[in-house]
Amino acid sequence: MTTKAQQYLTHFRNIGIAAHIDAGKTTTTERILYYTGRTHNIGEVHDGAATMDWMEQERERGITITAAATTAKWKRSGTDQEYVVNIIDTPGHVDFTIEVERSMRVLDGAVAVFDSSQGVEPQSETVWRQADRYGVPRIAFSNKMDKTGASFELVLSDIKERLGAVAAPVQYPMGAENEFKGIIDIVRQRAHFYTNDLGTDIEETDIPAEYLDKVAEMRAQLIEAAAEVDEDLMMMYLEGEEPSVEQLVAALRKGTIEKRIFPVLCGSALKNKGVQLLLDAVIDYLPSPLEVPAIKGKIEDSEDTTEFPADPEGKLAALAFKIMADPYVGRLTFVRIYSGTLQSGSYVYNASKEKRERVGRLLKMHANSREEVTELKAGELGAVIGLKDAGTGNTLIGDGDDKVLLESIDVPEPVIKL
Ligand code: GDP
Repeated sequence: MTTKAQQYLTHFRNIGIAAHIDAGKTTTTERILYYTGRTHNIGEVHDGAATMDWMEQERERGITITAAATTAKWKRSGTDQEYVVNIIDTPGHVDFTIEVERSMRVLDGAVAVFDSSQGVEPQSETVWRQADRYGVPRIAFSNKMDKTGASFELVLSDIKERLGAVAAPVQYPMGAENEFKGIIDIVRQRAHFYTNDLGTDIEETDIPAEYLDKVAEMRAQLIEAAAEVDEDLMMMYLEGEEPSVEQLVAALRKGTIEKRIFPVLCGSALKNKGVQLLLDAVIDYLPSPLEVPAIKGKIEDSEDTTEFPADPEGKLAALAFKIMADPYVGRLTFVRIYSGTLQSGSYVYNASKEKRERVGRLLKMHANSREEVTELKAGELGAVIGLKDAGTGNTLIGDGDDKVLLESIDVPEPVIKL
């Protein structure tokens, strides 16, 4: 049961973007941050040149996505509902395995980016296995559809064969390589054509005749996969009834959250507006903090554990997951709040270090600004200024609460296939 106080959490998505090096993680993240920032603060941008300039400037100044967690806002296309999408930086390189593991603990869902010309590469496989161990629901993005050698089929078959996962294509590319023209949304049966090279404009149309058979075949497979995880849909399927878009999305969402289905999207991160469809899929298929199992904590001097459901009115439970040195404000401790509310100026108990610590100021990091806030609530991520002793992996609880350590999952080193 969701209480009134928890309601805001249904519109939260805490996600990571994971990829093999060079597959396009940075580009995808930058485009998401740029596009969410722009649409939220300034309004629609139709000028492709301005988009590129902004990106280049940011890149030169080196200030993009340096935050361990960035808060973006996204209005689901076709609705008025605004969502908070927190993007948690997941280091892509195997050398940072421990950091990847740590980031896996603070996200609720992930986007796995693949290079369509390469399929599933070794590092992607490693990160995929880590996400499996942490039970992280995923969607996949078959990027670089415009690149020579790009093949959506290659990515789909690699996901099945190398990762042993049920790939459920929810999109289909129109053309590939130089001829890549846009994407068909298989669920909603609409075509999205890029009308300029940068993809800053997309025209939505009916599915072109030449793709009708292919899309019908893929949609039938999608419904079959969704029926496997949803009884109502299975009944409809057996009776030959066509599910509504809402029913199909709900069943795919359920399957994704249960990690039985992995929706696969395609496109090019270089087409700026292409990330619109990716963000919509994040909203449609990845879980809110209320839909993932509550984090567990180990009670001191006992074998017992306790749970911290995502509730701003519950007891404080937060995890420090990254410390960064900031030239202006000094030590920034990035935290995820699982339960309760962290107040600026309050005292917390660092259960890992057995120390009482004072919380100074609290910040939410946006793509190109920082917002000072007075509190961070359950489900939120942000940075704390003023914590002197907290290190990565430390548990923060309420001052005076019984000592509890958030469960540190004992993860063996992954076997890296070369
Ligand atoms: P990362 O290492 O995964 O973060 O990859 P980057 O985002 O830095 O991308 C690696 C290279 O691939 C860069 O030169 C990007 O410009 C390029 N790239 C990213 N996305 C696309 C795409 O959709 N199409 C093409 N052709 N190149 C891309």
